[in-house]
Amino acid sequence: MATGKINVSVENIFPLIKKFLYSDHEIFLRELVSNATDATLKLKHLTAIGEAKVEYGNPIIEIKVDKEGKKIHVIDQGLGMTEEEVQKYINEVAFSGAEEFLDKYKDSAKDSGIIGHFGLGFYSAFMVAEKVEIITKSFKDEPAAHWTCDGSPNFTLEASDKKERGTEIILHVAEDSLEFLEEAKIGGLLEKYNKFMPIPIKFGTKTETLPKPEDAKEEDPAPTQEVDNIINNPTPAWTKQPADLKEEDYKGFYRELYPMQFEDPLFNIHLNVDYPFNLTGILYFPKLSQDLNVQKDRIQLYQNQVFVTDNVEGIVPEFLTMLRGVIDSPDIPLNVSRSYLQADGAVKKISSYITRKVADKLNSIFKNNREDLEAKWNDIKIVIEYGMLSEEKFFEKADKFALYPTVDGAFYTFEELQEKLKPAHTDKDNKLVILYASNKEEQHSYIEAAKAKGLEVLLLDSPIISHLMQKLETSKENISFARVDADHLDNLIKKEDAQISKLSDEEKETLKTDIETAINNKSYTIQLEAMDSDASPFMITEPEFLRRMKEMQQTGGGGMFGMGNMPEMYNLVINTNHELVSEILNTKTAKKKERLINQSLDLARLSKGLLKGEELTNFIKRSYEMVK
Ligand code: ADP
Ligand code: MG
Repeated sequence: MATGKINVSVENIFPLIKKFLYSDHEIFLRELVSNATDATLKLKHLTAIGEAKVEYGNPIIEIKVDKEGKKIHVIDQGLGMTEEEVQKYINEVAFSGAEEFLDKYKDSAKDSGIIGHFGLGFYSAFMVAEKVEIITKSFKDEPAAHWTCDGSPNFTLEASDKKERGTEIILHVAEDSLEFLEEAKIGGLLEKYNKFMPIPIKFGTKTETLPKPEDAKEEDPAPTQEVDNIINNPTPAWTKQPADLKEEDYKGFYRELYPMQFEDPLFNIHLNVDYPFNLTGILYFPKLSQDLNVQKDRIQLYQNQVFVTDNVEGIVPEFLTMLRGVIDSPDIPLNVSRSYLQADGAVKKISSYITRKVADKLNSIFKNNREDLEAKWNDIKIVIEYGMLSEEKFFEKADKFALYPTVDGAFYTFEELQEKLKPAHTDKDNKLVILYASNKEEQHSYIEAAKAKGLEVLLLDSPIISHLMQKLETSKENISFARVDADHLDNLIKKEDAQISKLSDEEKETLKTDIETAINNKSYTIQLEAMDSDASPFMITEPEFLRRMKEMQQTGGGGMFGMGNMPEMYNLVINTNHELVSEILNTKTAKKKERLINQSLDLARLSKGLLKGEELTNFIKRSYEMVK
């Protein structure tokens, strides 16, 4: 048997790093700006603890594009490196100076915001550059160093005459990456990745208009001056304490994040934890449109103010991906696959923390400013309903503040609703039947009919509501939902104030047979009811169960597959106390009787929105004939 050590030589690894380190070549800029930021923050820390006896001042980072010379410069005024440090930190690939720094200053530096992790970021420069130079002068009293490398493992390191403290990285852009020499390209990348980084970043200059001097004439142009163009906001709202922010600040930050968004957010939630993981951020409830898929991926994920991704799948619970805003956490392992991410303990904790925070915030709005919650309910309900369906923990909390609006604009919690509906809505089996409409216009006649009987009708119109009703029916005792045009209604009406039928049993038998023969359609079950004489003579209801199954099939309910097409099944409810019904019964000629029945049926179908196409055309023609 032979044992040994596999020999991995740098010559093999270098091209690999270059090619596969990051799939996105553009992140080289993010990495270099991160290093420049780290170098500045380290200096800040060292001056603060007295270890560096220099003036920290107001350092900035500058990015310059030299299109002719095919060069990109990243210049910082941070702590710099001595020649020895370049040897150590740059020449040893995968040795992270950031990690070492954090180790060394463990206690004092944990909140310093240092970004680096893996000790590979710097080499991402070779994804776009054929040659890289580092010119660096340490804050320590030592000569500057100049390092050059052309992408092979060979480098040169010599003294430099750089006088100012800090580091300049020069990328000689490779022929296949010339796109990165476009101002607009670099500007776009800075905007995407570095917009909220903690050290001011200068990219070019801009012209600023100054106030006119006192003695200027009307026609004199206002004076201007060239100033640094700083592309970032080093102190974005999420890095501040909630107590220091006003409503306007939150709205302002929303506009900063989404400059193309003209509508104000509805609510904001400030996230702020430092134990057992670090996480800050601000989430916003936006006004949602009906198309839920276009809403996704609007939450931006940052690590120490560096943009990482706007795909937060796996980090934020699915139902909250409809929100917008920012999450910043150094504790999310991003070098692993997404599926692994979901199993990661820290990520799970983060996800459940966010869920809890959102629920708590909504609960506090419910308690302290219920009118506000009611006013905005329609715009946020889909998120909450989705959350109640998908996260049991969220359901438990949201059950206390989730609102159920009536068609008349009152709002009840589930508990209030139960109180409100007793006893009128209690059916024969002592079950509470909650009536609702899904469309005020389409179900108008049914809503009116229910209201005329003193019943309360909710307006539940979101696309996933049938799933939520199903959940409520199984998790609560003795309740069921029924749409106003469902057959449950009959169960309620038959109670104490049932009407006495004007027709005898014999007459009812005849009527039923007459109608069955005339309409000759198996989809309709004829049901005779004694109702108010001014209630509709013919009315179509649909079994709640069947209709809801159909709806859930459409919105992708779990376990619904393989059920095939649901049959069409309706109840045709005939009001035996209505004058027209008596007339039908007493009509002698069979032809006329049949016509009356079918015209009435069509009116009932029209009222339920079932009359369409050729049938509708025929109905209208026939009606004109009748009125002329
Ligand atoms: P990381 O940032 O994860 O430590 P990098 O490969 O990005 O790894 O950088 C390696 C090391 O090189 C840094 O930790 C730091 O010590 C040093 N370095 C890189 N850029 C600079 C800079 N602009 N100023 C000072 N030191 C730097
Ligand atoms: Mg780095």
